[in-house]
Amino acid sequence: MSEVRTRFAPSPTGFMHIGNLRTGLYAYLFAKKNGGKFILRIEDTDQERKVEGAVEMIYRTLDKAGISYDEGPNKDGGYGPYVQTERMGIYKRYAEELVRLGGAYYCFCDKERLASLKDENGVATYDKHCRNLSKEEVEAKLKAGVPYVIRQKVPEGVVSEYEDMVFGKISVDSADIEDGVLLKSDGLPTYNFANVVDDHLMGITHVIRGTEYLSSTPKYNLIYDAFGWERPKYMHLPPIMKDAQRKLSKRYGDANFEDFLAKGYLPQAIVNYIALLGWCPKDNREKMTMREMIEAFDTDGISKSSSIFDEQKMRWLNGEYLKAMTDEEFFEVAKPYIDGAVEGMDVDEFELAKLMRTRVDVLGEISEKLAFLKEFGNFDANMYVHQKMKVDLDVAKRAVAVALEALRGLEDWSEDGVKECVKAAAEQNGLKGGQVMFSMRVALTDAAVTPGGAIEMALALKKRESIRRLEVSLAKLNEQ
Ligand code: GLU
Repeated sequence: MSEVRTRFAPSPTGFMHIGNLRTGLYAYLFAKKNGGKFILRIEDTDQERKVEGAVEMIYRTLDKAGISYDEGPNKDGGYGPYVQTERMGIYKRYAEELVRLGGAYYCFCDKERLASLKDENGVATYDKHCRNLSKEEVEAKLKAGVPYVIRQKVPEGVVSEYEDMVFGKISVDSADIEDGVLLKSDGLPTYNFANVVDDHLMGITHVIRGTEYLSSTPKYNLIYDAFGWERPKYMHLPPIMKDAQRKLSKRYGDANFEDFLAKGYLPQAIVNYIALLGWCPKDNREKMTMREMIEAFDTDGISKSSSIFDEQKMRWLNGEYLKAMTDEEFFEVAKPYIDGAVEGMDVDEFELAKLMRTRVDVLGEISEKLAFLKEFGNFDANMYVHQKMKVDLDVAKRAVAVALEALRGLEDWSEDGVKECVKAAAEQNGLKGGQVMFSMRVALTDAAVTPGGAIEMALALKKRESIRRLEVSLAKLNEQ
């Protein structure tokens, strides 16, 4: 078998939602699994729908997602250019060649004539008016400069069939296929033509794309046949749904990859999650690295039915990725979020990161979980009362004073250092360790719930800020 070559062919018409990205991911996984090449092609012939910056976004997204292409824009593999607007001459040449081969014809029908073909629903099906113009007629019109399009000459009385790798046999009667436009009057190709020419010239062996093309593929195959080209194999992927009725859509701003990154999802977790939307590895594993996905990828595991995008599930998986990180790895990804939460404060961000690692599912939650740090100053005497631990305001006052006194002279501001110091001070003053720890934690944070206990908070706040806070809180307690 020749080398497997797959491609991802996004159109730069907006952001990349995770359904588009999944198509690219599967094409990548399939190529890599088979030791083949993965190609990126930018399908930008629809200039009206082109969105500023969308091409750069495609590069950025693939890069972040860890989907690296072997050939594509800025990475020539001998089959370029890989951007359709840079291939314009090619389509015209091949359209003319197809006319010569009998698979296409010139059509000179004007707008008015085409409009007159509309049925009661406003749909115009071309009536093949120009299909049988004589060579002389065609030449005369071309010479006279009459505007034209080139249409596919769909053979009559055939059934066009192929075997889709996911959906099985797909067949369409040629009577149901219109003689569609391949090359427009402005010389630009339609998608219907460009995808065939490009996939052929780029040596694509497996076309992997969304099911919206499942039933038009027989039409494309007739073009391959007319050229005498070998047809590629096809794998059409069912859509990802927003809910039971609606597909994810970039027009409605659904499920944008970059939005999820901004919310604090890890790119590898998003990619892992979307791999599972429509594919299930044989051993039902969920958390997988790219390498593992490549190894496990097989077409049998691809589902025919659509899947529903479930952000909660992705959130859970993201949390699993965070939990599996070392403190150092977590600190690296969490730092920007922690920076925001402690802006202007001199605290130990690494200690805070350690507390956050198992407490958030997405990094964006860090801001809200650490908001209490900046909100210090909302003194509330009720927070110091803990019946079970037998802490009332008097005990709290004593406990905070004892902790403050002991910690002021402490040099070794480490976990053991702080712990031993506070415990010893509690004992010497006839208080229980728990009573001092509890009061100290509230005094340090002014918060009922914190991501760590007294010791952890003291380490995160470091000595100077801890002492300052204990002083402020003790003064407020003494006013009670
Ligand atoms: N540009 C098309 C799209 O974004 C590509 C379809 C294909 O992969 O052939 O839908």
